[in-house]
Formats: sequence, C-alpha cells, structure tokens
Amino acid sequence: MQMARRQSTIPASLMPVAEADALICENMPVYPQISCSLDAVSGTVLREDIFAERDEPPFDRVMMDGIAIRYSDWLRGDRTFRICGEQPAGRPGEVLDAESGCFEVMTGAVLPTGADCVIPLEQIDIVDDSATLKAEPKRGQFIHQRASDRRAGDELLSAGTVIGGPEMIILASAGKGTVAVTRRPSFSVISTGDELVDVDQPIESHQIRRSNDRGLDATLKRHGLEDVRRDHLRDDPDLLSERIAQHLKDTDVLILSGGVSMGRCDHIPQILQELGVEVVFHKIAQKPGKPMWFGVSRDGKPVFALPGNPVSSLVCLVRYVIPAVCDAMQARSTEFETVRLSETVRFRPSLTYFVPVRIRNNDGVVEALPRPPQNSGDFAALAGTDGIIELPEGRNEYPRGFSARLYRW
Ligand code: AMP
Ligand code: MG
Repeated sequence: MQMARRQSTIPASLMPVAEADALICENMPVYPQISCSLDAVSGTVLREDIFAERDEPPFDRVMMDGIAIRYSDWLRGDRTFRICGEQPAGRPGEVLDAESGCFEVMTGAVLPTGADCVIPLEQIDIVDDSATLKAEPKRGQFIHQRASDRRAGDELLSAGTVIGGPEMIILASAGKGTVAVTRRPSFSVISTGDELVDVDQPIESHQIRRSNDRGLDATLKRHGLEDVRRDHLRDDPDLLSERIAQHLKDTDVLILSGGVSMGRCDHIPQILQELGVEVVFHKIAQKPGKPMWFGVSRDGKPVFALPGNPVSSLVCLVRYVIPAVCDAMQARSTEFETVRLSETVRFRPSLTYFVPVRIRNNDGVVEALPRPPQNSGDFAALAGTDGIIELPEGRNEYPRGFSARLYRW
C-alpha cells in the first residue's frame, strides 16, 4: 500500500479511490439472514438456493385456445372433428378416446390424455358440435411439454441473487411463501447546514434550498434500499452530537451530508470521533467529493459523511455507499457496466474524475455523453444524466472511445 502511494502522483493526504473502496468493504458488517414472507422480499438478496417444486410445466400445457386432436386422425385424412367436451384451465385432465373426436381447450389447460396436437381457434371453423381444420397442423404443436423447461428439484436460483420481477415469478412458482433473504439495513440520511431551508418554507436571499437528503433518499430507494429516514441538523455541535448519537442507536447505516470540509462550521469529523466513530479515512483523491469521510461506530455501524455540494454527495453515494451496502447484503457481485466515451475528456489534476453522463446507444455501442457540471454545486447539470463514469487518475486526456465504468444514479 505504501509503495503504491509513493509511486503515485496523488498527494499523500488523499486516499486513492481503489483503496477507499477496499477499506469501506473491509469495514462493512455482514447483514444477517432472516426468514421473510414472499410479500416483503422484493429488492433484497436471496440467501438460499431455490429448486423447482415440480416439473415445469407440471403437465402438458395447452398454449392456445382452440381444439385438441389426435395427430394420427389428421394423418389418416380426418379434417372435421366431433367436439366431445371442453377442457378449461384449472380442471383435471380429460381423456380423448373417441375416434375423430376433439376437445375444446383453453390456454393453460391440461392437454387431454390421448391428444397430441392443438389447433388454434383461428385455424378452425366450428359448426354445431364439429370443428373443421383450415390449415395443416404439426404433431405436438402448441403444447408446452411437461418438464420441458425444468425438472422437479432442478436449481432455479442461487443465493446472492437480488430479487426483482423475474425472481419473484420463479419464487412464487416454486411455492416459496417464505424465503431466506438478507435483512435490509436501515438508513439515516442527515443533512447539515445553517443556510439550508426545506422545500416548503419561505426562503431569504442568503439561504439555500435543502435538497441533498431528498436526492440521496430517492437514489437509495431506486437501488432497492427502502428503509430510509431523513433528518436535518443545524451546524450546532451540541445538537449535532445529540442527534447523531440517536441515529447511531436507531439505524444501521448513517449517511451525513455537509460539514466535512475544513471550515469553522464543519464539525462533523470531530463530533463523530467524540461519539466513538473511528475514522477509517478522510479525503479521497477524486473530484468531485474529495472531502468524503468514512468511519465505523463502536458497534460496527458504517458512517459515511459526504460533502454537502449536491453533485458531490450523489457521486459519493453511488460510487461508494450503494456498492458497499449491496456487498454487505451478500449480493453476488455483478459485472461492472462499462461504456465508451462519446468525445474526448480532458482533466488536469491527478485525481480520479467522476463525470455525470447521459447514456446513448449509438448503433449498438453504449456511449457516455459527458455532462460535466461547472462545479460540484451545479446540480442543474445533472438533469437528463443517467449516472457517472469513473476516469482513473494518472492521465490528462481520455480519448473518444475510452472505456469507463458506469455507476447509475
Ligand atoms: P458543506 O459541505 O457543508 O461545506 O457544503 C458545501 C456546499 O453544499 C454549500 O454551498 C452548501 O450550502 C451546500 N449544501 C450542503 N448541504 C446541502 C443540502 N442538503 N442541500 C443543498 N445544498 C447543500
Ligand atoms: Mg455546511
């Protein structure tokens, strides 16, 4: 670690991005496994392997509304079939044993025993109790064969999968009313600053609308982290100390915004240390978000103190906080999304550069259109962006086509 530091052009007081990342991951807890009703698992992480309850599909399943016939009758020359009965979905299977007979069948029904071909309604004429074929069928058509997808006992999902729409379908189909998942951590998002005024309050010319906590909250939720409480505190050391202590008791992850720079009102690092939150690092070799502070409470809770500028706080959230929490929830790591720069970007300081981008698909190539803000207070530049790309330190120019990691908002 020392060697890497000395060889790099990064100032010694700043933590390189990759080291900051590694230190956060090392210091995160492992969130425990709980048994949870399927109603409440969307967005969390599966902690058990899931196996097929039955063959999939569990019976020869009719795939079209129409009639079911015996293909051998067609081969023998039959074109008109007598309707022997009906086979709707949800009813036990009937038996087709009459020669030149058929069953009216509905999508999702069990294929009547003896039938091996389904003719859709569009390809038959029904007169009284007979159906006449208008087109040539194929043996086995429109039948979803039993066990043709999976056999009973086959693995369908493995532990570490994040539960979204497809996983919910699979879990419900496997009869898993209760599932082993990661208990979702709770978050306190605390903004600080005397100049900040909430959205519905009258505002004076020297004041600023408070926005970060809402941006951080919405971004956490978009990443499936739903249990978020917001708070706002003035730059008053006693108040900060008392309320942060309470949040440390009540929630699993603390995310603060503002008050971590060098100003006289930037009390956060000092107060956190007084509350027994041990600093892991302060300041990362990056732009924006250089003043970020990270520490761990006595009982192992991570505390992310992010700089107050809106662009910085959001960048630090998607680059560090969300990936670290997903990791701590035992989510299987997925491949990084990479994108290609649509134009050359120049950047002088020897820092990692996080640039907001808009993603566009250019004839099959996923391109990132840089939308650099004027500075990290220029939140308006974030409109229409999809996330940030990471341009590693060590060069001054990133040419068009340069491949970079994407972190979505
Ligand atoms: P700080 O990190 O506290 O020095 O704040 C840096 C800049 O970000 C200042 O201009 C603040 O007014 C602004 N800022 C801090 N917190 C917020 C917030 N919650 N919403 C909007 N702007 C903020
Ligand atoms: Mg401040």
